[in-house]
Formats: sequence, structure tokens, C-alpha cells
Amino acid sequence: MIYLDYAASSPVLSEAAEQVMRFMTEEYANPSSIHQAAQKSRMVIDSARREIAGMLNCRPEELIFTSGGTESDNLAIFGAANGGVRHIITTAIEHEAVLQAAKAWCSGDRTLTILKPDSEGVIHPEQVEQAILELLEAERTVQPGGADAEARILVSVMTANNELGTIEPICGIGEICEKYGALFHTDAVQAFGHIPIDVKACHIDLLSASGHKLGAPKGVGFLYASSKAALKPQIYGGGQERKKRSGTLNTPGIAGLYEAVKYAEVHMAESAERISRLRNLFLRKILSALPDVRINGLQCLKDLEESTEPDRTGCLPGHLNLSFPGIEAESLLILLDMKGIAAASGSACASGALEPSHVLMALPGMDIERANASLRFSFGEFSTEEESEDAAEAVIEAVRRLRALRYGS
Ligand code: PLP
Repeated sequence: MIYLDYAASSPVLSEAAEQVMRFMTEEYANPSSIHQAAQKSRMVIDSARREIAGMLNCRPEELIFTSGGTESDNLAIFGAANGGVRHIITTAIEHEAVLQAAKAWCSGDRTLTILKPDSEGVIHPEQVEQAILELLEAERTVQPGGADAEARILVSVMTANNELGTIEPICGIGEICEKYGALFHTDAVQAFGHIPIDVKACHIDLLSASGHKLGAPKGVGFLYASSKAALKPQIYGGGQERKKRSGTLNTPGIAGLYEAVKYAEVHMAESAERISRLRNLFLRKILSALPDVRINGLQCLKDLEESTEPDRTGCLPGHLNLSFPGIEAESLLILLDMKGIAAASGSACASGALEPSHVLMALPGMDIERANASLRFSFGEFSTEEESEDAAEAVIEAVRRLRALRYGS
């Protein structure tokens, strides 16, 4: 199999798998227990917390272990309580874990603003500023002199998009949030462990991450929450995680996450360089052989170093989203699967009918046909040059075949 679906889930690193096994079969004590056997469990949790804190530039106490990205996003949206959040500003390209949580949160006098990206999937800090100003203005109109309005806004913009790989200008957005006293949450599920993130430098108050996108197992993740967020628990019980998230901690998962984070700290830059080279090799081969292929999201081959536009932050090393006009993504996926290649389409299955990806459909100029002709290929730690070449050849052949069936050759 050639696995090009790292963005959906990555293989567990062997170091991580070893530790997961160890904390399941040898050091299995409940970390909250008093006896000596629990000490190892507590120690690995403390070490993981310190390591992640070092990577994000936050304090270990600001991290809350969760069951993954979805729970972290929900905890951020429902738990952020500073000043009693009344408005959420988010984007049309967020993962459903943010979008659906924000929609469920929005009832009564709460409001939700959903920002649209530009054609490359970028959300600009000026858009966030504009939305904040409009909300403040509306509050002043309703409540003349409503001075503390700004503390009630939560902005949620992802660090990098899962379908496109576009990295958002989160530091610029953080600055805007800081300027107006709004809380800033970022879903860093795709980005954490793949690109450097500094929560203090970027004025981030809440950040979600998930283990299985960086070589740890599924079902473990964390939320970083600064004291400004004044996080309220959403799960009550034994009071673990400083009473912010009750439930016995997933020690094996956290031990695995600890290994994956240590691995990322050492290898991040070198991996990004190697993985993006493989991704670009695959892309160049396809572009040179097939006519009419479109890249969705930021043009990853463009020389970003030369870009003078401050918001152009680039794309994740392993992601690539391509449209092949004239074919159905699902047919291509099946053909590739039959050749042993695992890729993804962003379409969701809603009550038996395939819906085009909400992320692609949010891009200006996108139409349903092109969205339904799009696939995501995501490369990762164990991808090889041979796989990249073979996969490109398989895509070229499959697209030619499907186009020939449709148009005749
Ligand atoms: N947010 C983003 C951007 C994602 O890509 C994903 C998973 O694909 C999630 C949230 C959900 O994370 P998890 O699978 O850990 O619940």
C-alpha cells in the first residue's frame, strides 16, 4: 500500500507504540492513586506536559489532556468563559469539530460570525479586525457605552487547514485579538508537531491538538488554555486536570504522545523539508503529464520566500489538494484504492448522499463540479521517493482512463 492519507491519521511511531504498550501492560496504575505503582504513570504525564509546554512556549499547568482534537475544540468553544463569551467569530473552512460546536453553542442572544477565506484558503487578520469592529459597534448601539464588550468575543481560526494545508496568519490574527481584548482559539490539530507554534508570541489563548496526526495513537490530545480564557469544565467528575477535565487520564496515550512530541522536536525541520520535497515531486510529475489540473489552496510550489505579501504563510509540508476536472473524485479514489493507494476526498456522506467538501465550497470561484473532482494527497514521515513517483504514475494513468471514459479518446 502507498499511504497518502497522513492528514487523516498517521502511523504510530515505534518509540510511541513501545511506550503505549509499556503503560498498558507494565505501568498500568491509575495516575491519581497514592501508592508507589502510580508514580511512573504520574511521571510520564508530567514529563509529557513539560515537553509540550516547552514546544508551545507555555506553562505545563496551562495544558489539559483530552481524548483528541474534537474534544479539545469543543472544550475551547463551550468552556471559554472570560467575561461570558457572547460572540464567536470563526471561519467557513474550520473542521466540523469547531464549526458544529460553534453552531450548537450559538443560541439565544449569542451570535456567530463565519468568515470566508480568499481563493487560496487564507483568512486575513483585517477580516477578523473588521468583524470585531462590527460586533463592538453593534453592542454599543444596543447598549450605549457598553465598555466591556470586547472581553466577550472568542475568535477561532485554525492554524492550518486539514484539506488544503494552507497555513493561516495566526500571529497576525492573534495581534488583532490582543488589541481588542478578544480571546483567540486556534485548532492546531494539523499543524502541531509539523510547524513551530509559539502561543505567547502569537497571543493565542486556546490551542487544540491531537496525537494521531503526529505519530501518537488516536484518542489522545490536549487543549492549551491560558488563564485569560477562564476555562469552565465541560466534564465533571473526579476533578483531574486541575478540575478542568475530569476522567482518568489516558496514560498509555499520553506516554505515546510524549514520544511523538520528542520526535517532532528533533526532526520537525528536516522532516518538513523531506516531506515537502516528496509532495512537490509528486505534484510536478502530475502537472507535467496531465492537462487541466488545479491546485486548491495555497500554491505550494510558488516561491513563498519571494512573496512580499505578509499574510502568505505557506502550506503544510505534506498536504496537496488537486482538482482533476472531468472526473468524479470518488471514482478516482476507488481506482487508486484498487492499485493500493490510499488518498482522500473531502466530501462527506450525509444521509447516503455525497456532499461536496464545505472547505472547497467556501473558496471563491469554486463550483460543485470542481469540488467533486478534487482529492487530497497527504505525505508524511514514512513516505518515500519511490512511493511518490509510483503514486504519481498511478494517478496519471487513472485520471487518463476516467477522462477517456467520459470524453472518449
Ligand atoms: N481539527 C482538525 C483540523 C482536524 O483535521 C481533525 C481531524 O482530522 C480534528 C479537528 C479532529 O481531531 P480528532 O480526530 O483527534 O478528534
